Amino acid sequence: MAGDSKLKGGCLCGAVRYELAAEPVMTGICHCLNCQKLSGSGHAFHIMVPEAAFSVCGTTKGYTWAADSGSKVTTSFCGECGSPMFGRTGSFPGMVTVRAASLDDPTAVKPQVRVFAKRQQPWDHADPALPAFPTMPPAENRA
Ligand SMILES: [Zn+2]
Ligand SMILES: [Zn+2]
Repeated sequence: MAGDSKLKGGCLCGAVRYELAAEPVMTGICHCLNCQKLSGSGHAFHIMVPEAAFSVCGTTKGYTWAADSGSKVTTSFCGECGSPMFGRTGSFPGMVTVRAASLDDPTAVKPQVRVFAKRQQPWDHADPALPAFPTMPPAENRA
C-alpha cells in the first residue's frame, strides 16, 4: 500500500466509479456467510477508508440488513450490472468498506487479517500466514 497515487475503482459496466483519497486504514478478508452470498464466492476482501476520503460518481442501489451484533450493514451496488463495490456498517461509524476486487488495480492492496474464519469453505484456500479470527477480532484490536 505504498505510494501516493489514488486508488480508484468501479463496477463492471462502468456506470459507477469511485476514488479513495487516503490509504486504507484496515484491510481484511471476510469469510462470513453474508460476504459469501454477496460475492457468490468464498469470501470478500474489504479495505476500510474514512468516509471523508471516499468519493463516488454514479448512482448506486443499496441493501441494508441487521448484523448479528445488531448494527446495521448496508451494501452498495450498481443498479445496472449488480457489481457490489462498497458498504457501511454501524460497527465502524465514519468508515466505508470498499470491496478490494472492485478496484482498478486490486493488487495494489494486501489483506492484513482474515475474519469469520469459522465460516471458511473447505474449497476456499487462504494464506496461512495471515492472522485469522473465528469471528471478529477483539474490540481492542479494532481501529
Ligand atoms: Zn455497473
Ligand atoms: Zn463478511
